[in-house]
Amino acid sequence: MWLNNILETIGNTPLVKLNKITEDLPCTVLAKVEYFNPGNSIKDRMAVKMIEVAEQEGKLKPGGTIIEGTSGNTGMGLALAAIIKGYKCIFTTTDKQSKEKVDILKAVGAEVVVCPTNVEPEDPRSYYSVSKRLATEVPNSFYINQYDNLANRLAHYEQTGPEIWEQTEGKVTHLVVATGTGGTISGAGKYLKEKNPNIKVWAVDSYGSLLTKYFETGEIDMKEVHPYITEGIGEDFVPQNYDMSVIDKFTKVTDKDGAVMARRIAKEEGIFVGYSAGSALQGLFQLKDSLKKDDVVVIIFHDHGSRYVAKVYNDQWMMERGFLDVKTFKDIINGRG
Ligand code: PMP
Repeated sequence: MWLNNILETIGNTPLVKLNKITEDLPCTVLAKVEYFNPGNSIKDRMAVKMIEVAEQEGKLKPGGTIIEGTSGNTGMGLALAAIIKGYKCIFTTTDKQSKEKVDILKAVGAEVVVCPTNVEPEDPRSYYSVSKRLATEVPNSFYINQYDNLANRLAHYEQTGPEIWEQTEGKVTHLVVATGTGGTISGAGKYLKEKNPNIKVWAVDSYGSLLTKYFETGEIDMKEVHPYITEGIGEDFVPQNYDMSVIDKFTKVTDKDGAVMARRIAKEEGIFVGYSAGSALQGLFQLKDSLKKDDVVVIIFHDHGSRYVAKVYNDQWMMERGFLDVKTFKDIINGRG
C-alpha cells in the first residue's frame, strides 16, 4: 500500500484528548493536532485548495509561478504542492518571523523575500505591497492572497469541519480556534454550525490585533493595532475570509500567556506545538466560565513546535522578554521552573 505523492498525506489528522493541562476544566477537551500534516501545519489544506481552484479557474497555468505573502506555514504548504504540481514559488515574509521558517521554505525550493514588519500594509516596502508588485512583474505568475482568497475557508469547510464532526461522532459542542486570515474558523465553524447550530465557535486573537474590537463593534479601530510577538494570529485589517456570523465570542491573549501555555502543552501533554496553540488554549481558559461537564471542546493546534525552538522554546529568548523567570541554582535543585 502506498500513496501517489506527499500531498495525499494531507488531512485526517488525529484528535487527541488533553488530560493533565485541562484537569481543572469540567469538560472534555480534544486537540486537533494539525502538525501531522506533511508541512507540519494546518495550512497545507488550504494551500492545495487555493492552487486547485486557481487551476480550475485558469488563473494558474502550467509552469507558472506562485506568489504569496506568508509567515511560513502557508508557504510550506504551497511549496510542497508546487513541487508535486510543477510550479515555482516566490514568497514575501516579514522580519518578525522565525528565521527557521524562512530557511525551511528555501529548503523546499521557494525563493523568499524578507520585508520590514513595522510599516503600514500600504507602504511599498510591506510584504503585502511587495508580493502584489511581484505578481505584476513576474510573467505567468499568480498572486494567491490567502487573506481574501475564499478557497482558504472552503478547504476548512470541506475538510477540517467534516473531520471534526466525524471524529467526535457529532458530539462536539465548542470549537476554539486561534485566528489570523479567518480561514480555519470561518470554514470549519460554518460546517459545524450547519450540522448543529448549538455548537459554539470561539475565536482567539492577539493583543495588538484589531479583530476582536471589529467583532464586538463593527469598527476598524487602528488604535488597537500595535506590534506583537505571537506568530500566525491577529491582523491589522479584516480579511475577506472572515464570516463573523459563525463566531460567538472573541478573546485576546498576550504574547506572554500564549508562549507560556505552548511550553506547558509540550511538557504536560507531550504535544510539541507552535506558539498559536498556546494562545488558543490560553483563550479557552479565559472563556471557560460557561463550560459544563458534558461539553466536548475541540481546539485546533495549528502547527509544530520545531519552528519555534529559537523563540518560545528557548529559555534565553523567553527571559529577555520577561516571559520566564530567571532560574536560580536552588530552583534547578528543587525542580522548579
Ligand atoms: N496559527 C498559525 C501558526 C498559523 O500559521 C495560522 C495562519 N495564519 C493561524 C494560526 C491562523 O489560521 P487562519 O489563518 O486560518 O485563521
